[in-house]
Amino acid sequence: MTKRALITGITGQDGSYLAEHLIREGYQVWGLMRGQANPHKMRVSRLVSELSFVDGDLMDQASLVSAVDLVQPDEVYNLGAISFVPMSWQQAELVTEVNAMGVLRMLEAIRMVSGLSNSRYATGKQIRFYQASSSEMFGKAAETPQRESTVFHPRSPYGVAKAYGHFITRNYRESFGMYAVGGILFNHESPRRGSEFVTRKISLGVARIKLGLQDKLALGNIDALRDWGFAGDYVRAMHLMLQQDRPGDYVVGTGRMHSVRDAMSAAFEHVGLDWRDHVYIDPALVRPAEVEILCADTTRVREELGWKPEVDFASLMRMMVDADLKHVATEHEYGDLLAAASW
Ligand code: NDP
Ligand code: GDP
Repeated sequence: MTKRALITGITGQDGSYLAEHLIREGYQVWGLMRGQANPHKMRVSRLVSELSFVDGDLMDQASLVSAVDLVQPDEVYNLGAISFVPMSWQQAELVTEVNAMGVLRMLEAIRMVSGLSNSRYATGKQIRFYQASSSEMFGKAAETPQRESTVFHPRSPYGVAKAYGHFITRNYRESFGMYAVGGILFNHESPRRGSEFVTRKISLGVARIKLGLQDKLALGNIDALRDWGFAGDYVRAMHLMLQQDRPGDYVVGTGRMHSVRDAMSAAFEHVGLDWRDHVYIDPALVRPAEVEILCADTTRVREELGWKPEVDFASLMRMMVDADLKHVATEHEYGDLLAAASW
């Protein structure tokens, strides 16, 4: 029997990589699409032509019940979120609604449709659930590297909301016997990463500077340390987490740490430039509460799932700069619309 997967956050970075991976694995894949004429739909449709769409929004409980009822998935991957940390100080309530309450709503939709409740929608089907938890939950962690048992100390409304999502997922596993897991993923990037995130901001900036379209790049805290991996590698871990005999939570990262300064150096060096000639620090980009250091202890995911990343940090930065050199050249020649559709 062909397996069916429902992915929320299908228009985001991870959604498209996961859809590609699952289709290669023989799945039928549906993406939850929100809004009226969502402008991101064209982008993901071009990348993954075999994809089907179903309407729904993590803010709207009934729409999730309808979507799960219609698709009758074997697996639900909840990647939908407002994912940019600084936005969570500006719109803390909205971020909590989507990133925390949205998880509860999806769990409830699954509970109703899968027959774990007395709902009239119940079909008795087993539906496995993946929650996109985040290393931001560790925040100001008491230990480095961070592992599954490290105590959470989130430093932003985003991290706090993700911690709720993680715990409610675990609670539904323990309360209702649901196969529900939280993948605690460390930062992962790609040419499809949103341009507001630091690696992509750097790769785009470097490409524009190299092509003579820009001279300066403003950054905030360049001493922050992160464990950066490639999104295409991390979606394999998501899938593996739902294929085990027993559900469990896993930390996913590379186990290697680099600073924002390292990311800039790698990107500028790749095109033969020196970042010191182009980068300046804008204090407005420094966060109210910073997460200074994140690094994954990957023992469990390696030993239990047999997962390991294939793309290292230096290759990742080069991949992103190369993609943006093409992207920016197209954008310059043909305008934004075509370039936006090109990834
Ligand atoms: P993106 O920001 O690229 O994508 C977010 C997705 O969420 C978009 O498809 C967006 O759709 C969707 N979305 C936003 N609001 C809603 C809503 N109300 N209802 C349904 N969907 C909504 O994120 P990534 O792909 O990078 O990340 C995927 C998930 O993993 C997120 O939950 C993120 O928080 C988490 N994560 C990411 C990490 C990373 O380094 N990338 C690290 C750890 C966790 P739309 O087109 O409608 O705006
Ligand atoms: P995050 O770890 O999920 O918040 O991912 P980001 O890519 O947004 O940020 C990673 C780190 O880079 C954080 O510690 C930021 O403070 C730091 N940083 C420094 N300058 C910038 C910048 O201009 N934009 C972003 N997004 N982050 C920056």
